[in-house]
Amino acid sequence: MTIGILGGGQLGYMLALAGYPLGLHFRFLDPSPEAPVGRIATRITAQFTDRSALKKFAAGLELVTYEFENVPVETARFLAECVPVLPPPAALEAAQDRLNEKWLFQKLGIATTEFAPVTDRDALDGAVQQIGLPAILKTCRLGYDGKGQWILRGAEDVSRAKSELPAITASGARKRKGAGPSGQAPFVLERLISFSRELSVLAVRGRTGETAVYPLVENHHRGGILRLSLAPAPRLDAAIQHAAEDAARRVFDALQYVGVLAIEFFEHEGRLLANEMAPRVHNSGHWTIEGAVTSQFENHLRAVVGLPLGSANGIGSSAMLNLIGDLPDSAEVLAVRDAHLHLYGKSARAGRKLGHVTLRASSPEELASRLSELPAYFHHPEFCLDTALARPASLRA
Ligand code: ADP
Ligand code: MG
Repeated sequence: MTIGILGGGQLGYMLALAGYPLGLHFRFLDPSPEAPVGRIATRITAQFTDRSALKKFAAGLELVTYEFENVPVETARFLAECVPVLPPPAALEAAQDRLNEKWLFQKLGIATTEFAPVTDRDALDGAVQQIGLPAILKTCRLGYDGKGQWILRGAEDVSRAKSELPAITASGARKRKGAGPSGQAPFVLERLISFSRELSVLAVRGRTGETAVYPLVENHHRGGILRLSLAPAPRLDAAIQHAAEDAARRVFDALQYVGVLAIEFFEHEGRLLANEMAPRVHNSGHWTIEGAVTSQFENHLRAVVGLPLGSANGIGSSAMLNLIGDLPDSAEVLAVRDAHLHLYGKSARAGRKLGHVTLRASSPEELASRLSELPAYFHHPEFCLDTALARPASLRA
């Protein structure tokens, strides 16, 4: 059985690695000739909008899924005419635009930060009046890892953003090749909140409607990029886990969803505010490869293929650290007990996710001690280990 995957980055790479033991084969389509999956699977190098390449890609496939949420919706719909596409293209459509996403959350009774649409620079003042400062202005489409965002604290920031609005659309948006047209993206203004922490939930729904939910994860970002995830999230209140699961189930039902879904939240004044969702496997779920009974990658494949889902229970306590821009010495990492290294086979470049390390331990205390044994490469404020280690009590579940 051959599964088609749109996008050939590290998420696709890890999907394929999880699928081979299940006897699955993979064919990828990605615009970049450097896509990491080229090492391990058949890859077609073509734009997502190239219809003749799409036909060639789809021939003989059992189903198509995606690892990149900015695949043009038209591409997914075109493919869906001849082969099942899961998660459904409607999920892609909802998640590609921050306003659509927030309106969906609102419609489903899932709390978000306060927000207002901003169609162009002239609309910014009105939105600022409505939302107040500090606020954060974001491109609705194609933003990622904190790109295409402006923090507005005072009047000067507002006027600077106004003068730069067209520049945001032209150069601040996602630049990945084949990401589709950029340049017309409107904006959304959100209240900038001082959240107590960022949490995400990974949940999976199978073709029969069966669901499984992983324990909530605590995420630490630097410069808009995920650096560290702690799983399960320390000091996790059952009511918070329940609220996250409830949000995921509402999205599942509304979209007749199949596959893994990630929702990012802010924990603010004791409750969850949904920030964004991704209709795919997610960086904050990489810990599940070693830290959960069934990884997010395997469960995504089980779901889309129509197999029973595996348990989403965690095994002990895990920490996942992203390797960004350059790599540590492999031997030094692997000298730490229960450290697992994943390298994506990408060439080094500033700001690029090149791999990750997962540390697993039997208790939060043991995890804290393993984290402190990591080599010097990780003892940089960027890795947020200070936060994780400075309050070992926080690692107590
Ligand atoms: P993306 O991950 O697509 O770049 P996000 O909306 O997740 O965009 O924003 C990136 C990061 O910026 C978040 O993880 C969070 O740290 C911060 N951020 C985003 N929106 C807000 C907000 N309304 N208030 C406070 N911080 C925010
Ligand atoms: Mg985000």
